[in-house]
Amino acid sequence: MKYYDQHIHSAISDDCETPMAEMALAAADLGLSGVTFTDHCDIEHYETGKIDPDCYDGPARRTVYEDAREIAEGRTEVLFGIEIGSANHHPDVAARIAADGFDLVIASVHNLAGLPDFYSLGRDGRLEDEAEDVRLLERYAIEHLELVAQGGFDVIGHIGYPLRYMENSCPGLSLEPFRDIFAEALRLMTEKGIALEFNTSCFRQGMVCTPEPWLLRLYKDLGGELVTLGSDSHEPTLIGAGFDEGADMLRSVGFSRITRFINRKPEFVGL
Ligand SMILES: [Zn+2]
Ligand SMILES: [Zn+2]
Repeated sequence: MKYYDQHIHSAISDDCETPMAEMALAAADLGLSGVTFTDHCDIEHYETGKIDPDCYDGPARRTVYEDAREIAEGRTEVLFGIEIGSANHHPDVAARIAADGFDLVIASVHNLAGLPDFYSLGRDGRLEDEAEDVRLLERYAIEHLELVAQGGFDVIGHIGYPLRYMENSCPGLSLEPFRDIFAEALRLMTEKGIALEFNTSCFRQGMVCTPEPWLLRLYKDLGGELVTLGSDSHEPTLIGAGFDEGADMLRSVGFSRITRFINRKPEFVGL
């Protein structure tokens, strides 16, 4: 199949060191049909949970992107996206950023209101109490419902993200106890034409799938048709990683095509 990796990062993101042009050339060398750069814009800082005024510099991003696109021209298609965090805590800021001429806007819940990113919580040993983790997962489910009701983006990224940081200290946790809340969110997504991302980083990191298979199946059963594949790669060698397994997973749930976004419009590609 033709692979379009619609969730990758470059040095624009704090947690990636590889320049965008280098990532684009690596994607071409790996034979990908296309990539969409979705560098972070977490409106609240990942360590403090407080609003981060430096999270977005539109013109600088655009310049770096245009260079990368030009360098890879004719070898792989390079598109321009963004991964916005904390969008449901700051709807007006998120709407302003999302309107800045992207091909694809991913909204991801990396942190809950008033808390730092789940990555930081895990690093600081704050996810070791199972009962507390379950309470956080319920809040995580509710924030998805808020986010989807708000809308204004194309894809929800890596549902299940907190489980990555909980599974060492509290193995076996799942979002399934909050199935009803997610069912409502997924139903709204189908109504609004919001796509569900299958984030293939779980395969290379040996972690719980994001989303878990039951949630993919639920979206399909509710009439959801829009699914994207993204590696969430922060390194050139990992672009497109796990796509064979991801495609198998999507087929096993009943999807026969994936979606890619150009100029924020969905197009289907056979799986
Ligand atoms: Zn993310
Ligand atoms: Zn990401």
